[in-house]
Amino acid sequence: MKTILVTGGAGFIGSHLCETLLEQGKKVICIDNFVTGKKENIAELFENENFSFIEHDISNPLEISEKVDQIFELASPASPVDFPKIPIEILTTGSIGLKNVLDLAVEKKARILHTSTSEVYGDPLEHPQKETYWGNVNPIGERSCYDEAKRFGEALIMAYKRKKDIDPRIVRIFNTYGPKMRPDDGRVVPTFIKQALANKPITVFGDGKQTRSFCFVKDEVAGLIALMESDYSLPVNIGNPSEITILEFAKKIVELCNSKSQIDFKPLPKDDPVRRKPDISLAKEKLGWEPKVSLEDGLKKTIDWFKKT
Ligand code: NAD
Ligand code: UDP
Repeated sequence: MKTILVTGGAGFIGSHLCETLLEQGKKVICIDNFVTGKKENIAELFENENFSFIEHDISNPLEISEKVDQIFELASPASPVDFPKIPIEILTTGSIGLKNVLDLAVEKKARILHTSTSEVYGDPLEHPQKETYWGNVNPIGERSCYDEAKRFGEALIMAYKRKKDIDPRIVRIFNTYGPKMRPDDGRVVPTFIKQALANKPITVFGDGKQTRSFCFVKDEVAGLIALMESDYSLPVNIGNPSEITILEFAKKIVELCNSKSQIDFKPLPKDDPVRRKPDISLAKEKLGWEPKVSLEDGLKKTIDWFKKT
């Protein structure tokens, strides 16, 4: 039986990943310090004897006595509302924390998959974004703690690959949504759903013409696992290429929630990317992966979950 370590496993994507790995009959060790994750996200997983949990901040070295075959590295706050609140923790986790996890991968001879992000492309000048694009990032703005930590992370992994003979996987995740997103994390999906369900104004930032491309979490997790199992060790975009403006997205959520909410335009945050859409040709070619869940179906599932919480 394969033993798989998931850092950030009590977070939104990490908890879905742990669940899927357990369903596949893997042994899962989940590590989290709950800076943005929640025990409720993994509560049901404790019923599975193949699941164990270690409360630990990866910014401190990790000691694991068991064998480890694979490491999914997801530990990092990811929401723009966290960037001005905990920028030093984000940079420390993305640098010293990642180095600690890489050292564990070297010690255990484990394959490691690191979750990078579409934010490495910054406010992209190329559209849609291919893995070959180097990005357009403001290195000193409020988002830079996250964007630059992830760019540093990719550089660190490539250095470990060249010098320490590790077998890495690097995924650039694009906007992902679904059940278990933190209702108060400020990201557009939980914010709009919460507002719509309460018939409160929907806070569209700027004129709402900026675009995003939203991937349902189950599709994202399938992509992460496909990449881990592949033999491709350079960055791969995993996201859903269907692009939508934020204003259209707000209207869709109002409709799906049968809500009476009105749109309330608010100032656009600084360095907010204008357009974002993954080019997923590489994922299709190397992994045979592409998303299956439509935005409407994924949103219905997400809205149902928010209604119950
Ligand atoms: P999340 O905040 O829900 O999950 C991150 C988890 O990591 C949390 O449980 C948090 O407590 C934990 N964590 C953070 N710092 C830690 C530390 N120092 N030690 C131990 N645990 C720590 O976020 P998410 O949306 O699930 O994102 C997971 C990963 O995917 C992150 O690396 C993120 O950068 C990446 N990503 C997510 C998206 C998205 O749309 N959700 C997009 C691009 C990249
Ligand atoms: N956004 C918005 N209203 C909100 C929250 C976000 O209009 O209440 C916009 C935000 O400005 C951005 C998009 O929605 O253009 C996606 O934001 P999110 O924070 O979810 O993720 P990002 O892609 O910016 O990391």
